[in-house]
Amino acid sequence: PDSDEALSEIFHELDSKFIIHVDDLARIVRVFVKEMKRGLNAERQPLKMLPAFVSRLPTGSECDQVLAIDVGGSNFRVCLIELQGKGAARSKQRKYVISEELKTGQGAVLFDFFAQCIADFLKEYPTNKSLKLGFTFSFPCSQKSISSGTLTNWTKGFSAPGVVDQDVSELLQQALARKNLHSVHVTALVNDTVGTLLSGAYVNEQTYIGIILGTGSNAAYVERMDRIGKWEGPAAQDSLTPEYMVINMEWGNFDKEQECLPLTSYDVQVDQASMNPGNQLLEKLISGMYLGEIARYVMLDLIHRRLLFRGHLSPLLSKAYSFDTSNMSRFERDHSQSLSDIKIVLEDIFKIPHVSVTDCRIVKRICQLVGQRSARLAAMGIVGIVTHTNRLDGCNVAIDGSLYEHYPHYGSHIKDALLELLGIASEKITLSLARDGSGQGAALAAVLA
Ligand code: ADP
Repeated sequence: PDSDEALSEIFHELDSKFIIHVDDLARIVRVFVKEMKRGLNAERQPLKMLPAFVSRLPTGSECDQVLAIDVGGSNFRVCLIELQGKGAARSKQRKYVISEELKTGQGAVLFDFFAQCIADFLKEYPTNKSLKLGFTFSFPCSQKSISSGTLTNWTKGFSAPGVVDQDVSELLQQALARKNLHSVHVTALVNDTVGTLLSGAYVNEQTYIGIILGTGSNAAYVERMDRIGKWEGPAAQDSLTPEYMVINMEWGNFDKEQECLPLTSYDVQVDQASMNPGNQLLEKLISGMYLGEIARYVMLDLIHRRLLFRGHLSPLLSKAYSFDTSNMSRFERDHSQSLSDIKIVLEDIFKIPHVSVTDCRIVKRICQLVGQRSARLAAMGIVGIVTHTNRLDGCNVAIDGSLYEHYPHYGSHIKDALLELLGIASEKITLSLARDGSGQGAALAAVLA
């Protein structure tokens, strides 16, 4: 584009594709709440709404030394957590990379790897007492108790055979036994959203919602037992608040029936080229794994139409998933007149020659729109939960994940959308970062179990 007019035409086109206006957002909330109810009342719905067998939130006074492990992101983490009461905790942590071979090889080998990492960790941080272990396992699991659950299906690039339909706590306990680690006992199995919720509640008792905004996106919240129509077991016993249970929503799969999410042609392309087309649509519009890829498809389209980089496409940018979401964060942080940092990244890393300021402005606008849409849809989910649970009198939302932690203005975009949807009542909703909350949350679940 060689004139301001042409540029504003491009901006206008992008805005009209990506901005979700408040009326549309409110309409999506209504469908979302309807889907929540469906998932609470029947099995195998788009929103799985999985009971997490956690019926009690921490009080902040919990004290104990607990092991926690975390499987579900790019790393395997082992932590030794010392809960010190008054919402305080100390932890020692090690991260181990889960190789592609382990993700796709035999399940027993994967679990032997977990046990070996725990054994190595305990050599480094020896303790002679028997330890409870909280297992954060962030894949959809059907649970029958707090300490066990069977894997429904793998996601996020894992496919190890021999694990689906098995009790993953049992698989871990067996692998620990093979390494002679008889003093470690798996006492809680939790999703990372549940861990985030618990760790938020440990420091703020008004925390009723936990959200992950990282590689993937998902949420857990505290639900009234009498609203879980599909519940078959007895009401949770030894619990101070037996009328409640935490629900792992698996919200990423929202709008499976494609009733309301305003997918652009770029989103459709990302979905079609993904490992799971037609599934996890909300996750694909919100989470870190996909935002960069959506932005890349927008750039490809504009390049193809010779509206960006003078039609020049570099080999790197034409590669799927080459444009990581962290680039978007970086671009949004460039407030210079000449957008020099954006230019450097595009020229030096992505090898696009002679990037103009106008190119940079377009790319920055794409990032802003895709990032802001993600935050507004996360707000949509929060509003769905607080209206359904009637928590408008006050609720803290604990959030973990790099997208929330590092993406500029992400939290304010969520707050803006909450204000648009709820008006002044939105002031009663607070957001808090629960950094690595899932590890601490798993430890809390192990203590509460
Ligand atoms: P995980 O969800 O795998 O446990 P993270 O919470 O770190 O781990 O999320 C990783 C995701 O966050 C990746 O998709 C990555 O693209 C994205 N990400 C990493 N750094 C940033 C950043 N600075 N800004 C925005 N997104 C980021």
